[in-house]
Amino acid sequence: MPCRTLALLLLLTPLCALADAFQIDQAAPGVYVHHGEHKDIDTAYGGDICNIGFIVGDRGVAVIDTGGSPKIGAELREAVRQVTKLPILYVINTHVHPDHIFGNAAFKADHPAFVGHEKLAAAMAQRQESYLRRQNEWVGTDAAGSEMIPPTLPVKDSLTLDLGGRSLQLTAYPSAHTNNDLTVLDSKTGTLWTGDLLFVDRTPSIDGDIKGWLKVIDQLKNINATRAIPGHGPIPQDWKAALNNEQRYLATLLEDVRAAIRQGRTMEQTMDTAAGSEQGKWLLFDIVNRRNVNLIFPQLEWE
Ligand SMILES: [Zn+2]
Repeated sequence: MPCRTLALLLLLTPLCALADAFQIDQAAPGVYVHHGEHKDIDTAYGGDICNIGFIVGDRGVAVIDTGGSPKIGAELREAVRQVTKLPILYVINTHVHPDHIFGNAAFKADHPAFVGHEKLAAAMAQRQESYLRRQNEWVGTDAAGSEMIPPTLPVKDSLTLDLGGRSLQLTAYPSAHTNNDLTVLDSKTGTLWTGDLLFVDRTPSIDGDIKGWLKVIDQLKNINATRAIPGHGPIPQDWKAALNNEQRYLATLLEDVRAAIRQGRTMEQTMDTAAGSEQGKWLLFDIVNRRNVNLIFPQLEWE
């Protein structure tokens, strides 16, 4: 019997319907987050694996990342509408990855400014064909209506958005997790949305420049924020400690891959051993760590 029917019959709080529902938490006053699940993208991940959400000002709303399908985007939009009828002024993408951007289409009718790193449009154009081709295998029938919506408001170094009674400070970074990472700092609550510059619990995945990312981590540590909302994982009690964990993983990986190259080991061999001391400390480690070695080994061979 379908869950909802059972709940109706029992006239109880529909627990299973609740489990179905798109869950939103208020991380700070006016700051709402939906936490995705820790699934790997290559195993029919369903489009809901990262942290997405929105911030409500007196004048309107800024959405930050939209999920991996128009369906997830529509659920996020509905969650906005449950909280406020104010206009959705901005849809901000923290970077190009498909789990963060394919919900954009659900917000088109709101005519927001789409906001992203100045290099996001080019990254989207470059990946459009392969991402759209793979959407079906990634999210199945939820792929319907998927499209790349590039930023109409690009961020070069930094940009301030006024939501009324609170402002958002956007910062664009040099190549790190990707070459188009952007953070959002809410002035009112000191909440920093890091996008995938911060992973909590889940193995950090590299698609940009590991050395650049390590530099950006030092830069992030100087930000005066009360809390951080990572790209993946729960909101940490101590976000600088979470950054330290990520830094330790990346630095260990870098050191181990460099050592393997010096010792003349192959990439295949290195995939099995690099950052082995971090195994057990992170989710999805075996899959993601191998992929990271696959990306950085050829880059580091020519240092
Ligand atoms: Zn990412």
